[in-house]
Amino acid sequence: MHAPVAPGLPLRQARGIMAETIFSKIIAGEIPCHKVYEDDHVLAFLDIAPISPGHTLVIPKQPARTLDEVSEQSAAALGVALVKVARAVKAVTGVDAYNVLQNNEAAAHQAVFHVHFHVIPKRSNDVGLGVGWRPSPLDQSTAPELASRLAAAIE
Ligand code: AMP
Repeated sequence: MHAPVAPGLPLRQARGIMAETIFSKIIAGEIPCHKVYEDDHVLAFLDIAPISPGHTLVIPKQPARTLDEVSEQSAAALGVALVKVARAVKAVTGVDAYNVLQNNEAAAHQAVFHVHFHVIPKRSNDVGLGVGWRPSPLDQSTAPELASRLAAAIE
């Protein structure tokens, strides 16, 4: 049994395996961005290819690939920053409706492998995020066990 490389950090990150991304270069100041918000743990900037005007990305400075790798400290800061950015996007665009989107891994449409939240004003059916949503009824026979297994997996 090996001792952890860096206690509290996911293994991939602790070993420095996480690939450099365009967002880590933005955080390092090596690539420019149109900054909207910054604090010790979070950076927000305009998306380079907006789905609608005001489309803003909110990212942790922590080099996490997917949401489940984010530390509690970064998660708390992200939550606060997301609300601040959402309010600013609403106020400046004058659009009341918006989506917050967060993709993890390529199968879920992640293209940049550094955690990010999209804040996307929804102007009309045509301008803003389109969502494919094909729900089916919750299987009530398996739901209690599924919920309790999920609850038991929460650390
Ligand atoms: P996702 O599919 O969730 O990984 O989305 C990645 C997002 O990053 C896309 O909306 C891109 O337009 C955006 N993006 C990529 N490069 C940059 C950049 N240099 N500055 C701002 N946004 C970027």
